[in-house]
Amino acid sequence: MDRIIYMDNNATTRVADEVCDVMCPFLREVYANPSSMYAFALEPHRALEHARTQVAAGINAARPDEIVFTSCGTESDNAAIFGALQAQPKKTHVVLSAVEHPAVYNMKDTLARNGYKVTLVPVDATGAICPDALAECITPETALVSCMWANNETGIIMPIAELCAIAHEKGALFHTDAVQAVGKVPVDVQATGVDMLSLSGHKIHAPKGVGALYIRRGTRIRPFFVGGHQEHGRRAGTENVSGIVGLGAACETAVRFLSDEDTRVRALRDRLEKELIERIPRSHINGAQAQRTPNTTNITFECVEGEAILLSLSDAGICVSSGSACSSGSLEPSHVLRAMNIPHELAHSAIRFSLSRYTTEEDVAYVIDTIPPIIARLRAMSPFWETPSS
Ligand code: PLP
Repeated sequence: MDRIIYMDNNATTRVADEVCDVMCPFLREVYANPSSMYAFALEPHRALEHARTQVAAGINAARPDEIVFTSCGTESDNAAIFGALQAQPKKTHVVLSAVEHPAVYNMKDTLARNGYKVTLVPVDATGAICPDALAECITPETALVSCMWANNETGIIMPIAELCAIAHEKGALFHTDAVQAVGKVPVDVQATGVDMLSLSGHKIHAPKGVGALYIRRGTRIRPFFVGGHQEHGRRAGTENVSGIVGLGAACETAVRFLSDEDTRVRALRDRLEKELIERIPRSHINGAQAQRTPNTTNITFECVEGEAILLSLSDAGICVSSGSACSSGSLEPSHVLRAMNIPHELAHSAIRFSLSRYTTEEDVAYVIDTIPPIIARLRAMSPFWETPSS
């Protein structure tokens, strides 16, 4: 394929050149285990601690030792939720939002099998998690509330400080999955007061296979893995030093690029959705009334299957998603769009475009020109599409 237009950055991102550069020495030259006692292990050990300060700074954590390195966002989410529950054995109720990523959402079944009562807090008419509804869900039995910072499918930003304050007022811990927020909007754990926060390297131009969990000092959580004493006994397993070094560098760069994200990337996203909506009749932005991350748009093109659009775009070199990439493979309409009361057939026709700092004006122009004829061709074959003359 001559040209790839990559608009699936909520699924994963290209590793930034400067991130690759800082990682390489830890693969090729200073490859010692950071827990070893000899001098050769000193540099990897120091690099790990430097990355911890970079990640802590990226989310304004008070102390670097509040950061625990993990293998991915999914591990961070599971470790936070299972770990916090195990540390509070007397409490048996958990509140999750109805629009969580499968890394959290699918825990509801495992939790139920293990004797926990799980309540899903709904979203309001705009698609944002509703603080009043959360207040009603929490009981004295509630150990933990987990609500994502920004949604992976729609980009909708949740009122985290407000949700966290409600959880605390009612005596529950608060965890947030900020995998889609870090690098897109300012993330501040002190200003919001969250107890735990998950993030993932490969969504912010670091490699796959590395993530982090912020645990506020004093928050009691049981380690998820049994094994060695790495990460101050909070996450067993030899650290992925090169990946962690990459994550640290990516967090630092992400903070520097926040204003680019808010201006240049937002302008590209806004142009993309405006022109697509104008050129394609019966197309709608899902979640347009809410505050959204600047890089994401989720658009329904009525009367066409999202998968058919995705495959036609793939032939044209354009990468998008027809739902959460992590849940694709199943043709069930997205639980996120369904939780927003979007009818099945419209949820089935939704496409997610997610841009990044590497997206150019030319990429957006190419997508704007390529999509309308594809939708027209697919609609012409659709039994549900009625042209004005028919
Ligand atoms: N949480 C959210 C909101 C996500 O978008 C994703 C991945 O798409 C994850 C968690 C899982 O992260 P990872 O792929 O690092 O396990």
